[in-house]
Amino acid sequence: MIQSLLIANRGEIACRIIRTARAMGIRTVAVYSDADAQALHVRQADAAVHIGPSPARGSYLVGEKIIAAAKKTGAEAIHPGYGFLSENADFAQAVTDAGLIWVGATPSSIRAMGLKDAAKKLMQDAGVPTTPGYLGENQDPDHLKAEADKIGYPVLIKAVAGGGGKGMRRVDDAAQFQEMLASCKREAASSFGDDRVLIEKYILSPRHIEVQVFGDTHGNIVHLFERDCSLQRRHQKVIEEAPAPGMDPDTREAICAAAVRAAKAVDYVGAGTIEFIADASEGLRADRIWFMEMNTRLQVEHPVTEEITGVDLVEWQLRVASGEKLPKRQDELSINGWAIEARLYAEDPVKGFLPSIGRLDRFALPRTLRTMRFRAETGGAPEEWTPPGRPRIETGVVEGDSISPFYDPMIAKLICHADTRRDAASGLAHLAADAQIWPIHTNATFLHALLVQPDFTAGNVDTGFIERHQEDVIFPVEPLPKALAIAARAQLGSYPAPTGFRLNAQPQQQVRFIDRGDVFVADLSTRVAENDSNFLLLHHQHGETYLTLQGATWRLTDARVEGAGAGAASDGAILAPMPGKVIALDVAQGDSVGAGQKLLTLEAMKMEHSLTAPFDGTVAELTVEAGGQVTEGTLLVRVERGGDA
Ligand code: ADP
Repeated sequence: MIQSLLIANRGEIACRIIRTARAMGIRTVAVYSDADAQALHVRQADAAVHIGPSPARGSYLVGEKIIAAAKKTGAEAIHPGYGFLSENADFAQAVTDAGLIWVGATPSSIRAMGLKDAAKKLMQDAGVPTTPGYLGENQDPDHLKAEADKIGYPVLIKAVAGGGGKGMRRVDDAAQFQEMLASCKREAASSFGDDRVLIEKYILSPRHIEVQVFGDTHGNIVHLFERDCSLQRRHQKVIEEAPAPGMDPDTREAICAAAVRAAKAVDYVGAGTIEFIADASEGLRADRIWFMEMNTRLQVEHPVTEEITGVDLVEWQLRVASGEKLPKRQDELSINGWAIEARLYAEDPVKGFLPSIGRLDRFALPRTLRTMRFRAETGGAPEEWTPPGRPRIETGVVEGDSISPFYDPMIAKLICHADTRRDAASGLAHLAADAQIWPIHTNATFLHALLVQPDFTAGNVDTGFIERHQEDVIFPVEPLPKALAIAARAQLGSYPAPTGFRLNAQPQQQVRFIDRGDVFVADLSTRVAENDSNFLLLHHQHGETYLTLQGATWRLTDARVEGAGAGAASDGAILAPMPGKVIALDVAQGDSVGAGQKLLTLEAMKMEHSLTAPFDGTVAELTVEAGGQVTEGTLLVRVERGGDA
């Protein structure tokens, strides 16, 4: 068995790997960039090596530095996690050449599956059904267009080197094709350094179903059943579950067998995932499921498989990398219950999912499900009740840490395992609702709203789900009068009046609270029922009250405390929400604009963000040019109310 392991990653996955390695008695080595000097994974590892500046291309993506760190600390093996260098065949080869153990797929399988076009060809040869389309031998735009016309719209343009949902464009009609192609190629070139694309038939009501496979160096390959990852936003997974809703045993058998065939075609070793797309317009049918791609690494959503199979996939990875046989045979693996995972992001759904960065003044994720006063099903009869389900939290941050603009904004994964899908979903909804995080904005409200959607609980999922339910799942939460009254009573009861209060104040009927520039008035005479507090979470710290409702959190500061009013109101000034580059400018000074109209596109954190007009008006100030770099907080555009828009 490996004695010491370097983890070439950061965040939750680095912490996750450290946990299993430690339980197996393996010494762990972390690597870190400038921004991560104080990060949790660094604190948790037995040793840590600084590998460079904050941007990943100077640190987490530099293979030589990572190998040097392993040599320096005497680590025998390298686990790449997911993302970064995990699917880089040259790095895998360099690790092996340096005499180290690579905890992952062989360089040749990574290469074989690395490009979507080559992988599809390989699968066709292995008799695995693939999505109809054009594999892109000829990249001439007019030729690609002709192929798309032949396939028939809608089509999906995909970067052959793409991943993580980037480098894809859906085209609904021929007239849009060239524009979409150009934008796809631009994104592919900047994200993957390869602008080649392929074209696929766009499957309507598609479901994303993937199969976890595992191989060892003794020629054994097993599958660990399927996951459904259909709940996606812009092709990025948001909620994942195992098993897949509506999967019958025959269809399961067929796709799991196809997955094992696919893995055998590349003599697969280690943990891998075969992704399929299913046309679910008439339920799941074995003849309507096609191979999409293989990910030759551990997936973000691996915990749901671990929960239903009882297997620690990281432990298996370390055993297989040490040369051991797979710990279980296919007939020893079975599905137990249901598990769902939700990805918690530092982003603001109400503001177009703009990443939210800064210090986590408050960061408390529920580790258990909260006991409720009343059970909804009993119609209000008093009863202590804990929602069923076993929570699991994976995170790489703790309170006081900062979210930097340099990396993926996923700050935690919330997972719930229960006997039934219904209980797993309801338990997870409670976890999302009780995530208390401030002042960073998160998608917890959005996750909660998704998990309680009747269509979701009924298992009617497909990749268009989020877009279709947009209006029901993206909304700002207001602190309810009842919630404010509860917060005010708790605050008055447990804390002496803050300093700076006027003497001779009237007996209080109202408490004015301030949070991030907003004023909330709590009316103490508001009637509250005993079970109203089931729907909110309160926490007092340093004389302030954190109120959490449906995943949204406010820090309530008594308005009479000096300095409580700091914070700006919107005056039409559009500030850069983070450092980035202006990649397109849609307006000029003096233009009339309508509320919601796109003003410019900012590229930041490897994503394109559209900034829009807050109300009807005129562009009064424009301080940037297309191509310009901006720092956080820079005034980009100022819209003045009125005008003739
Ligand atoms: P990535 O490597 O970026 O994850 P994938 O090829 O795995 O890209 O596709 C990501 C998602 O895009 C899928 O989960 C699915 O929702 C959607 N998708 C991919 N191919 C198609 C298709 N042919 N038709 C419809 N949706 C698709």
